[in-house]
This record gives sequence, structure tokens and C-alpha cells, in this order.
Amino acid sequence: MNIRLPWASIGAVCIALGMPLAVWAASQGDPATRALAHDIFKELIEINTTDSIGSTSVAAKAMAKRLLDAGFAASDVTVLGPNDRKGNLVARYRGKPGSKLRPLLIIGHLDVVEARREDWSTDPFQFVEQDGYYYGRGTQDMKVSDAIVVTDFIRMKRERFVPDRDIILALTADEEGGKSNGVDWLLKNHRELVDAEFVLNPDSGGVVTDHGKPLAMEFEATEKLYADYQLLATNPGGHSSLPKPDNAIYHVVDALAKLQATAFPFELNTVTREYFTQMAAIESGQTAADLRAILATPPDPAAITRLSTDPRYNSTMRTTCVATMMSAGHAPNALPQRAAANVNCRIFPGHSQEEIRIALERLFDDPQMTVKYVSDAGEVSDHGSDRKSMTPPPLRPDLMRSLRSATDQSWPGIPLIPVLMTGASDSVYTMMAGIPSYGISGVAIDRDDVRMHGKDERVPVESYYTGVQFYYDFLKALTTRKH
Ligand SMILES: [Zn+2]
Repeated sequence: MNIRLPWASIGAVCIALGMPLAVWAASQGDPATRALAHDIFKELIEINTTDSIGSTSVAAKAMAKRLLDAGFAASDVTVLGPNDRKGNLVARYRGKPGSKLRPLLIIGHLDVVEARREDWSTDPFQFVEQDGYYYGRGTQDMKVSDAIVVTDFIRMKRERFVPDRDIILALTADEEGGKSNGVDWLLKNHRELVDAEFVLNPDSGGVVTDHGKPLAMEFEATEKLYADYQLLATNPGGHSSLPKPDNAIYHVVDALAKLQATAFPFELNTVTREYFTQMAAIESGQTAADLRAILATPPDPAAITRLSTDPRYNSTMRTTCVATMMSAGHAPNALPQRAAANVNCRIFPGHSQEEIRIALERLFDDPQMTVKYVSDAGEVSDHGSDRKSMTPPPLRPDLMRSLRSATDQSWPGIPLIPVLMTGASDSVYTMMAGIPSYGISGVAIDRDDVRMHGKDERVPVESYYTGVQFYYDFLKALTTRKH
């Protein structure tokens, strides 16, 4: 998961406005569910699923066994992948026979970021409970949610709950890196196993808390598109005692100075309009007024400029491009023959990589310098993809209703805030495959305690069990037909 840094001062604002700051609902489930949830979480954390020496197949098989033991049919539980270390689990929870509704797919990645014992206070691959937290690699990103969904599948099965459509769970490899992304592989090789009307991906979204107080349920409704571009200037070079005005380094530096001084145009879509509307109600003073002013027609340019100084607001209102790497020259006493820079862009939904490449070329306006697209594999090409990042899917009324009711059961009254994810998750594959995808998680993490990919990753013990309860309430509400 991509880390989004949250939320200055919202807690204080909520209190000032007298908004209902919900108390934890003490709905952490019956003892049997709690014990099951504990054991599944522990089992997953203690299976190393890193790309270097781990195996997602071991974790996928362990979860498959649990589902089979709980009564899932062998034909509905499969572990498969491109090789024996990068296995993915696909499990189908059968809905009402003859249902005309197409399945719901839940995706979660099993792999975790590398973690070294000597960098941590505890062993990252031991499930440790300490001071009210569970510690271990994956306790935030994202074995916590994998364990939650597996627990809820078993709990619903034990209760003989029958959803109004099939619910498919895919627990997959290589989201964090590696060459065998499981979601991509399943869509390309076994589309029939994972084909669905829409997708839930608990790798993003979740409840933001402040010192344990819930502030809001954020959910991801759309994502930006990732792209790298190479700026390259070459020159015959020469002796540095005889400089000429034409210099490869100056070409690239001039281009980057233009980039620094330029912002891509302000844009809104259905998701960000709703996000800014909600944030306007939560923020106060000038910021709240500015948020309202950018929603007006036409938007107020001064308000856009002020809000752009906040990286999160800035990134939510436009495509961003930033210099991330440079290399140039070959000797201290030689004129440079080559200068290159990498520019990393996060493209607002609705635009293609090629469109942004052309926009950069026009901005730099320098025939001595090329702007090329760099693929994920590092290949440089004259042309980026013409495929546009998907425009946001509609906020389905059934999804919103269920999210509201399940959220209220655990965190009564907190606002639901749709966000444009400025990074990228596996939803990029399902969205590209034309399946609307939403990032919804029931795990509450303090805004000051985001430890994904970092040292001593942890989740509050009660956050975990509340998350188990939330997803259970949410899935049942979502798959129970209202008459
Ligand atoms: Zn993740």
C-alpha cells in the first residue's frame, strides 16, 4: 500500500465543531471468532512472504486449508500461480443458487516488504502481542486484512449465511515488488475464476484515528496513474577550459527549472468533488473557505494557489510531475557529453502517459533534449501508452449504504470520505480490466502511527478485532438483498 500522510489538526477541528467523535463500539465478536481471528493472523504473520526468501504459496495453502476445514468445497478453493513460490489463493463463497447478480471480488496481497531482524525491536516474522498492539511485518500492510476476510468467510460459513451473489476472495503475490503480480496473472490466465461485477481491495482506505479517537472512514474510489519519463541531452563535449554556452547539463537543468515553476491544470472529478466537499465541512477558516471556492464555477484561482501548498490537496487536484533522479557528466575537467534526469508523474484520471509526455515536451520546448517514456521494467521508448487511467467508477448506492451502516455499527456517525489515491495499488489491474474497484478497509490506524514498510510495524489489538467485526457487518449488508 502506498502511504498517505494524513490530516493535520482534524481532531481538534472536530471537537471545536462539536461533531460526534464516536466512542469505540465494543463489538469485537464472540470468543470463538476472536480465537479464530487470532490464530489466522498469527499464522499469516509467521509465514515469510517476502520476495527475497519467502513464499506466498505457503501462505495461500495455509489459508486454503482453513477454508476447506470450515466446509468450503474443494472445487471452490484453488491455489495457483506462475511458479511454486508465487502462488495465489482463489476461493469462492457460493451465493444463492440461480442468482443473476455477478460476483463480488475481494483482493488482498499476501506478500510483504522485506524486514531484517536487526532493524526491528522484535522478530518481524514472529507474531508478538505487547502493550496493546500486535507486532509483525504485515500487521498494517496487509496481512491484517487478509486475516480479517478469511476469518469472516469462515464465520459466515459456520452461520450458514448465504449471500445474494458469489463472493470471490483472491489472496495474491507480488504487490510490493517481484515479477509475478498475482492479480495481473489471474486476470490474464484465469479470468473466469476472478471475473466480477466489482472489486473490494482492503489495501487502501480505513479508519483514521487520533490517539484512538475515530475521525473518519476513508475509502479509495479512484487512483492516479504512475509514469516515469527520461529527460536526456547529449553534446559533443570538450575540454572544460574552453566552455561553450551549449551544455548538456544546462539543457536538463533549464527544463527542470521550468517544471518546478509550472503546475498542471486544476481538475475535479466526481470523487474529488465529494472529497473536497467533505473536507470543507471538517476544516475551518481560510482552508474551509478555499475548499468551497475551488468547488465553485469557475473555481477561484487564488484559492487553488493557496491549497496547492498542501501536498495532499495539491496532489488530489491535478497531475503532478517531479524530478526524482539525475546523472550527468563523465569527468570534473570535461564538458558533459550527456545529462539525464528522471521525472516521475502521477497522472490524474482521464489522461494517458503519452498525453503527459507530450505536455512535458511542449513545456520544455527544447529540440536539443528528448523526453522519453520509461516503463516499469526500465525500457526507454519514444511513446508512452495511450491508455488513460480509468475515470472514477460511480459510488454504487448499495456499496455506500452498506458502508454507512457497517461503519455506524463500529464507529457511529463518523464521516465517509472518498479519496483519490495518489499512489497505486493492485486495483490498477482490476480497473484496467474494466472492473470498478474500491479500497475499503475496516482497520483503524492512528494518523501518527503509519508504519507500513517500516520498522516495528504494528496494529492495535482492538483495531484488529473491530476490523473483523466491521468486514463481517459490511459483507453481510452488501450481499443481503433489500426487498
Ligand atoms: Zn499493501
